[in-house]
Amino acid sequence: MHHSVLQPLWDSLRLNYKDYVRSPLFPIAVTVSSYFIFCVPFLVCDLMGDRWPGVQQFKIQPSYRPSASNLLHCAGVTLYNHVFLVLPASVAQWLWRPPVDLPDQAPTLLELIVGVTGNILLFDFQYFIWHLLHHKIRWLYVTFHAIHHKYHSPFALATQCLGGWELVTVGFWTTMNPLILRSHLLTTWAFMVIHVYVSVEDHCGYDFPWSTSRLIPFGIYGGPSKHDVHHQKPNSNFAPHFSHWDKIFGTHAEFSFCKTNN
Ligand SMILES: [Zn+2]
Ligand SMILES: [Zn+2]
Repeated sequence: MHHSVLQPLWDSLRLNYKDYVRSPLFPIAVTVSSYFIFCVPFLVCDLMGDRWPGVQQFKIQPSYRPSASNLLHCAGVTLYNHVFLVLPASVAQWLWRPPVDLPDQAPTLLELIVGVTGNILLFDFQYFIWHLLHHKIRWLYVTFHAIHHKYHSPFALATQCLGGWELVTVGFWTTMNPLILRSHLLTTWAFMVIHVYVSVEDHCGYDFPWSTSRLIPFGIYGGPSKHDVHHQKPNSNFAPHFSHWDKIFGTHAEFSFCKTNN
């Protein structure tokens, strides 16, 4: 009989918020709301600009600020994708998927950490292959992925500046991977929230001392500076999170931006 430190949290969710957390719409609500919550602090940093020099010193491309029309364009693409793809997918889930059963036991903290890491590693591999193909095959690039490369200097809202096919693929893996790995629901939600966070961080335009690539040692994690290179030189750094697939395939590139005088 194991006892998990997560048991009180799990009990309060499954007993007090049963109808919400059993809904097939819950994972969608969690990912959509966490996306906007994670974008807000980075947006505030962009809007404050030079009034916050202590923050701006961590900007990866210091001379670049997203303009109001950049922000509106990304917000428009995100709104379009949510109205025409996320909303219909939500309705379909709600109609066809029965509410899930909630197990009594919470996962242990170790099970949750191993599960989240496994989900992210699996996604990293799937997206690496997808991403490589959508850069190497011209038709795939132009038709589906070019929209994400409109911005050579990423900012938080550019994370979901995606074509519909890319968003559907990413959403499909994020939904399927926890089922393939038989993850606990708490592990599944933790994976989804962490995955949204690291995706926004990849595009935020800042390399803070607490960025995931600095917290995870030995350069095994790419993070914002490596994905920034992908937006500057789109023939390198195809993996979204870790760096091993790019090292194996010889597509790994270190950060090499030449600072302009300002
Ligand atoms: Zn990107
Ligand atoms: Zn790309």
